[in-house]
Amino acid sequence: MSKTVLITGASRGIGAYAARAFAAEGYKVAVNYFKSEDEAASLANEIGGIAVKADVSDPLQAEELAKKTLENFGHIDVLVNNAAIALTQKVICDVGADEWDKLFAVNVRGMFNCTKAALDSMITRQNGKIINISSVWGITGGSCEVAYSASKAAVIGFTKALAKETAPSLITVNCIAPGVIKTDMNAHLSEQDYAALKEETPLGRIGTPQDIAGAMLFLASPAADFITGQVITADGGISI
Ligand code: NAP
Repeated sequence: MSKTVLITGASRGIGAYAARAFAAEGYKVAVNYFKSEDEAASLANEIGGIAVKADVSDPLQAEELAKKTLENFGHIDVLVNNAAIALTQKVICDVGADEWDKLFAVNVRGMFNCTKAALDSMITRQNGKIINISSVWGITGGSCEVAYSASKAAVIGFTKALAKETAPSLITVNCIAPGVIKTDMNAHLSEQDYAALKEETPLGRIGTPQDIAGAMLFLASPAADFITGQVITADGGISI
């Protein structure tokens, strides 16, 4: 039986790279997207997976997403809660309550919605791996990124608590905290910004989606069967 993975926010960036990496390892991949339909459709076509539209912040759409994945694949071995948004960098006093709510709706409620939607079938099978994508800012905090940092810290708390709750069902829950990765999310960074960040990073380079997909594949693999409730920081050492 093929292994299966549902990756939220897989139409672009880290999620899209991860979809290709899981497919290369023989997984059947459900590519969730919200707005980037063409990218998701062409990626699903390329890797022989399925593209499923859902705004993860909406519980009904998240349920539909898990349902379509189960209808197509029969089971979900791995759920990667990757979809997220960021606000433009600004001081906390300039962040509106509506912006705060929208960010938390995608980054935190989206993870909650998709986990709930996929968990039943994992509990029935007494098998599953949930991988949540946090951020180094969720650990260290980022100036002018308070809302995003708080949402990514919530991802860590959710991971640890859920890991305890689902352990009796042999479902592991772990978290990856990427450092700076060159994707659309960082489109606001200039070449000088990237050069300064590279300088600050002990490993001397900016991260790539490949660096994060590697950590996902490890957490999804049998090699990580005894690991749960953990945060793997994949940041080139910038947080140490
Ligand atoms: P990205 O390039 O901006 O891509 C974001 C993805 O999330 C897109 O596929 C987008 O899909 C999807 N998405 C956004 N809102 C959604 C919604 N409501 N429902 C479903 N999907 C939605 O971001 P990225 O850099 O790859 O980030 C991936 C993950 O890594 C995120 O959790 C992010 O917080 C985390 N991270 C990134 C960095 C970094 O430096 N890039 C660092 C630390 C952590 P559509 O385009 O189809 O709407």
